[in-house]
Amino acid sequence: MAVTTASVASRLRALLPEGRVLDEPTSLVPYAYDASFWSLRARRMPDAVVVPESADDVVRVVRFAAETGTPVVARGAGTGQTGGAVPARGGIVISFARMRRVHEIDRTNLQCVAEPGIVYADLNATLGGHGLFFPPDPGSGRACTIGGMVANNASGPHAVKWGTTSAYVLGAEVVLADGSVIVSGGARSKALKSSSGIDLTKLFVGSEGTLGILTRLRLRVQPRPAARAVVLAAYDDLDHTVGTLDDLFAAGILPATAELLDRTAVEALMKWKPDLGLPSGEAVLLVEIEGTRTSVSASVREVEGIVGRRATVTQLAEEEAAVQRLWAARGGLAAATALVFPGKHRIFAGEDLAVPISEIPRTIRRAREIGRETGVSVIFYGHFGDGNVHSGIVIDPEDPDEVRRADELADRLHRLAIEVGGTVTGEHGTGAVRAQYMRAEHGPALDVMRRMKKVLDPQGILNPGKLDLEG
Ligand SMILES: Cc1cc2nc3c(=O)[nH]c(=O)nc-3n(C[C@H](O)[C@H](O)[C@H](O)COP(=O)(O)OP(=O)(O)OC[C@H]3O[C@@H](n4cnc5c(N)ncnc54)[C@H](O)[C@@H]3O)c2cc1C
Repeated sequence: MAVTTASVASRLRALLPEGRVLDEPTSLVPYAYDASFWSLRARRMPDAVVVPESADDVVRVVRFAAETGTPVVARGAGTGQTGGAVPARGGIVISFARMRRVHEIDRTNLQCVAEPGIVYADLNATLGGHGLFFPPDPGSGRACTIGGMVANNASGPHAVKWGTTSAYVLGAEVVLADGSVIVSGGARSKALKSSSGIDLTKLFVGSEGTLGILTRLRLRVQPRPAARAVVLAAYDDLDHTVGTLDDLFAAGILPATAELLDRTAVEALMKWKPDLGLPSGEAVLLVEIEGTRTSVSASVREVEGIVGRRATVTQLAEEEAAVQRLWAARGGLAAATALVFPGKHRIFAGEDLAVPISEIPRTIRRAREIGRETGVSVIFYGHFGDGNVHSGIVIDPEDPDEVRRADELADRLHRLAIEVGGTVTGEHGTGAVRAQYMRAEHGPALDVMRRMKKVLDPQGILNPGKLDLEG
C-alpha cells in the first residue's frame, strides 16, 4: 500500500512514542547532506526523520516502510564522504542520535556492547576508564558514530597494526528489511572467536545500511598501550619511503602507524602551525611505536636507526604531549589545506584510494600528473602503512569549469586505483558516489552482492541508490 509523502510523518507519529518524528522542512534540511561534495551540490530531502530511542522503535519504522514500500536510510553523524546516509530516493531517515548507550564493558572478556549512535571518541573515553580502547581511529572520530563506522568499515592511521573496524565487530543486533530482528555472531555468545555457521556479521559490516539496520553492537576491545613515541622522517625521494617500511618489516617491526605527508601536505601544516617543526622533503613519514614505557624507549631508537638509513633527516617525538600535538595537527590537515590555496575549498571527492604499499609512489606521481593535466590543485597524504592514499582536492566550488575538472580528476583517480591493483575506497565507503566503479572493481562478484541484496531486501527499501546493488 503506497503512502503519500505528506502522510508518512503522520502515520509514523501514530506508531511511535511522542517526540520521535520530524517533518518540518527546516528540520529535514540537515539530513539532505553528508560531507560528500556530491550531496552538497544537490540535496536529497527525506519525507520524514525518525529519532528512535530503542530497537523497538526501529522495528516499528521498518515494518511501516516494508508495508508501504518506503525507502529507509540509517544515519549516524552524517560525516560520510560518499552520500551513504543521504536519502537518494527520499523516504525515512532513521537518526541514531539518541541511541548512544554503552550497555556493558567486560575487560576480562575484552568486549563491550553499545548502541550504534555513540560517538567514537565518547566510547573510547568510557573504555579508557577501564584501561581499554576500540582501535579503529578515523580522523572524524570526535563526530562519527560507531554505527557509521561499522556500516562503512571505517579505520584510520592505526589500521597498520590494529586492522579495520571489521576485525572488532563480534556480533550485531540487526533489524532486517521486513522488520524482523536477528543477532549475528551467536544470539547468546560472548566468545571472542567463532567458526560457527556463515559469518553474517561480516556481511553487515561495510554494507552501508543496505542489508539491515544495526541497533546494537558487540565489539571486541583491546588493552590500551601504556606508551607511544613517533619517529618523523623526511625523504628526498618517494621510493625511499617504501624502502623504509620494507626495512622495518625485514627487522620484524610492525609500526602502529606509518603516516605519509607529501610535500604539499607538509607545506599546508607548516603554514597552519609553524611551531610544529616538521622536517621538509619530498615526503615525510610519521612512524609510531606503541607498547610499555620500557619497550617503547628501546624500540623507538632501533626504529630511528632503521629509518635513518634512507631518510635525509629524522626527529623523535617521545613525550606524550608532543605526540598528541603531532596527531592533532595531522587531524587538522583538511582545514590546513585551504590556507595554501586562499579562496578555495577542500572538497571530499576521489579522496580515499587504497593501493598496494609498493605502488604508492607510482600512484602519487601519476595522480600529481593528472592534477596538472586537469589544472586542479591537489595535495596527498595518507595511511602509508596500509596503502591508503588520501587526496585533498582544492577548488572554487562556485566555478563550474573548475568543478567539472575536479570531477574529471576524481574519476581518473578512482580508475587509477583499480589500474594499479587497489580499491576505490580504503575506508570511507562506496555510497552513491563510488557506485559507478563497483563493476570495474568487483567484476562478476557484484552480481553475487546484488543477489544477496535481493534475498535480504526484496523490495529494495534499505538505502536504495547505493553500492550499485539494483542492476
Ligand atoms: C574530516 C573527515 C575525516 C574523516 N576521516 C576518516 C578516516 O580517517 N577514516 C574513515 O574511515 N572515515 C573517515 N571519514 C568518513 C566518515 O567519518 C566515516 O566513514 C564514519 O565512519 C561515518 O560515520 P557517521 O556516523 O558519520 O556515519 P554516516 O555518514 O551517518 O553514515 C555512513 C553510512 O553508515 C550507514 N549507517 C549509519 N548508521 C547505521 C546503522 N545504525 N545501521 C546501518 N547503517 C548505518 C549510513 O546509512 C551510511 O551508509 C572522515 C570524514 C570527515 C568529514
